Amino acid sequence: ASGYSLLREPRHNKGLAFTEKERDAHYLRGLLPPAVFSQELQEKKLMHNLRQYKVPLQRYMAMMDLQERNERLFYKLLVDNVEELLPVVYTPTVGEACQKYGSIFRRPQGLYISLKEKGKILEVLKNWPERSVQVIVVTDGERILGLGDLGCQGMGIPVGKLSLYTALGGVRPSACLPITIDVGTNNETLLNDEFYIGLKQKRARGQEYDELLEEFMSAVKQNYGEKVLIQFEDFANHNAFELLSRYSSTHLVFNDDIQGTASVVLAGLIASLKLLGGTLADHRFLFLGAGEAGTGIAELIALEISKQNGNPIEENRKKIWLVDSKGLIVESRKESLQHFKQPWAHEHEFVKDLVDAVKAIKPTVLIGTSGVGKQFTKEVVEAMASLNEKPLIMALSNPTSQAECTAEEAYTWTEGRAIFASGSPFDPFEYEGQVFVPGQANNAYIFPGFGLGVIMSGAIRVHDDMLLAASEALASQVTDEHYAKGLIYPPFTNIRKISAHIAAKVAAKAYELGLASHLPQPEDLVKYAESCMYNPVYRNYR
Ligand code: NAP
Ligand code: MN
Repeated sequence: ASGYSLLREPRHNKGLAFTEKERDAHYLRGLLPPAVFSQELQEKKLMHNLRQYKVPLQRYMAMMDLQERNERLFYKLLVDNVEELLPVVYTPTVGEACQKYGSIFRRPQGLYISLKEKGKILEVLKNWPERSVQVIVVTDGERILGLGDLGCQGMGIPVGKLSLYTALGGVRPSACLPITIDVGTNNETLLNDEFYIGLKQKRARGQEYDELLEEFMSAVKQNYGEKVLIQFEDFANHNAFELLSRYSSTHLVFNDDIQGTASVVLAGLIASLKLLGGTLADHRFLFLGAGEAGTGIAELIALEISKQNGNPIEENRKKIWLVDSKGLIVESRKESLQHFKQPWAHEHEFVKDLVDAVKAIKPTVLIGTSGVGKQFTKEVVEAMASLNEKPLIMALSNPTSQAECTAEEAYTWTEGRAIFASGSPFDPFEYEGQVFVPGQANNAYIFPGFGLGVIMSGAIRVHDDMLLAASEALASQVTDEHYAKGLIYPPFTNIRKISAHIAAKVAAKAYELGLASHLPQPEDLVKYAESCMYNPVYRNYR
């Protein structure tokens, strides 16, 4: 290839880091200014540039530009500055990017499959230049983060999630494929926007929707084989549960909103037992919000308890209670409940308000997954504090403005006794001379390592026990030093190491269950995971 095209090929471009020899050998002389930079120097300069931008979306755009220009440098930045850049390439900034995705669309970063492509999805997949895809993240844009229906503009989510698969989990960029399925949108603002990039129609439902998804799922399997991991992302809950149950026995599927969330929250619960004492079975759980996150977490907790006490899961579900927008989920409501809520309809009189539910159920753990902010009021938190020596409170709703309570509120209203974690990050808080560091139950702890574990073992199905293995692996990474600050999650700085541990445990479980196809099983799975990881350091061209 000519030197000129080499500079325009993001996978190979090194910009000023091309050495003198490379410049001679690859017809680059004159196409670059004379200075030769190391990758470290480029990184330093770019981080300096990024920090000049005060508007988060500008940082996002700068990162996307870099990804399109110089892929290795993009990932080097992300890996080395993960805590600083995670909020730029993923939530919360990615949300704003999605809202404006129409106006910032430049070049394809993934595949768009709309109703127009019905009957031709296999051909569409063949238009993607990479052959050896290992992970697909797919959305239909109906429930983007906490922002609702963004239709075709949801593309930012699969793009962002996959860049984390690479940066945090070490999956090769060329093995990652972002896909947006466009069946229309019910977002009136988008439908009325002349610059909207998606299909201008109301969402297809029922048979039309199911047929498109069915064609998609078969085309993926036909084109990439049985071992491609398909991650469903940000589907509305009516479709999310349905798709997961329909395809989990025929495809390698994973839903991060349901299963990834469940695994990361369970990890926090397992870790917190070190501070609380006892076993999971000793606890009583109350959720505000009974959707993908709430019921997904609840189910995984019940499953973990069953592994420990050997009782049937139906029995253990009774330790877990959920409140939805109407009130406490109880037996008398069962008829009118959506499928995924029914297992949680236990015998109890109906209670409308959260604070009364807390008083009636007497939970030791309170988890917010409602998407609605400020629901853990002073009254609610004080009720938790009067019931428990150390109340465990998780305010998981995102973004920060939707958190059920803030870290400051949780610590203040419990007089410093709460163990607190949240979905969005909160700064450390000092209460009466003691500094509390709130943990962040970020899905990015789990899915990259989980995916790597699935890929490196060649697993052909996801099994719930693999999620439990991931939770236990993450919990085991919390050290006494972290506990001392009140943390129930490890810091993100070591995320690649954490991911390798998670991958190893997930892979080990896949082998144990007979679901792994990469044989023989490597002896040291942690070492093997690390050796599989993509390294963004430049390569030398001879
Ligand atoms: P979802 O499937 O739409 O579920 C939302 C649930 O909250 C529904 O059961 C809904 O009740 C209930 N709800 C809504 N308003 C309520 C109110 N005022 N009082 C009580 N319950 C109410 O959404 P999801 O996917 O589970 O996500 C929920 C939230 O969790 C989001 O904010 C998301 O950002 C957050 N989340 C955090 C993490 C994390 O921290 N790692 C991961 C995933 C999700 P009905 O069923 O009656 O409508
Ligand atoms: Mn999601």
